[in-house]
Amino acid sequence: MSESRRPGVLHEATFPHMSGKVWPVALLPFGATEPHNTHLPYGTDTILGSEVAARVAAACMAQGTNVVALPAIPFGVNTTQLDLPLTINVMPSTQLAILRDVVKSLEPHGVRGLVLLNAHGGNELRALVRELQPSTSIMLAIVNWWQAADHGAFTEPGDHAGELETAAVMHVAPHLVAADRATWGDGRTNPSTLEGVRTGVAWMPRRWTQATHDTGVGDPRAAHAEIGAAFMAHAVERIAAFCCELAVADPARLWAPR
Ligand SMILES: [Zn+2]
Repeated sequence: MSESRRPGVLHEATFPHMSGKVWPVALLPFGATEPHNTHLPYGTDTILGSEVAARVAAACMAQGTNVVALPAIPFGVNTTQLDLPLTINVMPSTQLAILRDVVKSLEPHGVRGLVLLNAHGGNELRALVRELQPSTSIMLAIVNWWQAADHGAFTEPGDHAGELETAAVMHVAPHLVAADRATWGDGRTNPSTLEGVRTGVAWMPRRWTQATHDTGVGDPRAAHAEIGAAFMAHAVERIAAFCCELAVADPARLWAPR
């Protein structure tokens, strides 16, 4: 079998691929392990985050900037889904500890910027970055990959296992999408019984078994692999452009008059 590995993907690389080079930017995908309606796999967020990271690394390498895609963290914050079978939660404080260790591991190797490539809505990473940034010289940034490109081609992108996420998995891992569309849940949700939450005055985390019917949020049934492919390509292009910018950014001049 012939050798084939994706450029900049750390868990596929050998020591000679990584040594003797400068890696100014690293990507750390944040996934989750949770049900995604009746048609997508538990690993959806991890699969998509890993794939986007690999494609971003390849796009940057093709432009002459070394960007390394780190292995994805497969567990996310799922504190309000724990009554769903085999959902695996890590606490925000655990994420902070993991991120701190990853940052410390990268510091001696010339990494200038670390992009947290988020693929799960429950991973609210800003607080982690706000806490860690003062103690590291590595520039920390967050990208929610599903927000990195225009949603215009979707009827209704949805939130969790909806049209956007379904289209993306149909593109990346069609063998893991339930083949019979008639079995897919419609992703409808129950509104909050509290007016203050419904009107946006207050926010409360959704208790998944109360808010959803099939664990999905958003109707996936209009999803198309081609639209998922186009959306992901656009997101990858924009995230790669940011990584190339970050690779040469001056941390003392991240904000300045134009
Ligand atoms: Zn997801």
